[in-house]
Amino acid sequence: MHDLALTREDIAEADLVTRRGTFRTLAFRDPVDGHEHLALVLGEVGMREGVLVRVHSECVTGDIFAAMRCECGDQLDAALKAIVREGRGVLVYLRGHEGRGIGLVAKVRTHVLQDEEGLDTVDSATVLGFPVDRRDFGPAARVLRYLRVGSVRLMSNNNDKVHAMEAHGIAVASRVPLLIPANDHNIRYLTAKRDRLGHELPHLDASSRNGLGAAGD
Ligand SMILES: [Zn+2]
Repeated sequence: MHDLALTREDIAEADLVTRRGTFRTLAFRDPVDGHEHLALVLGEVGMREGVLVRVHSECVTGDIFAAMRCECGDQLDAALKAIVREGRGVLVYLRGHEGRGIGLVAKVRTHVLQDEEGLDTVDSATVLGFPVDRRDFGPAARVLRYLRVGSVRLMSNNNDKVHAMEAHGIAVASRVPLLIPANDHNIRYLTAKRDRLGHELPHLDASSRNGLGAAGD
């Protein structure tokens, strides 16, 4: 068996009417990391194969305030749209994942180094003594197991996330790209994700050929 399972005491469930539709929400307190996370569920997902899933790391600046230095908010939006279009899926929103797990204060410190010293998203973390990525995807695996999802089509550009979910016992049938157009504000971040973290971002080549700041920003 894979680590601890969620129990009913860890979870509260209710319907949530949103502008996009009515989801089933599961708020859950993870028994390992202690954070309170959220899963939004659309349609029947139990015992289903190839369920469309986004495992989204909290980014308060991007998700809530639409910051343009990262693409988190746009990815959240695109993932929810895709789930609604399909009529079935799960979005797991993981707390405690700010700045790939270093926390909000540390993340904003990395922004200072990025803006003033020109460091990228990787070096600005390591210079401060933080690991490049300390996120634990175990809570997402536990809630997907609780929902009895058979296998997932994971919306992500990050093969490491696929491997992490598999390591936590989730069958990943395929990875579904979640490509957000580059703009002048996020291009350095996206390029570093591609070149230094190995994310699959093939659309960036086309962006640099066409020039940034063009239509679509
Ligand atoms: Zn972000």
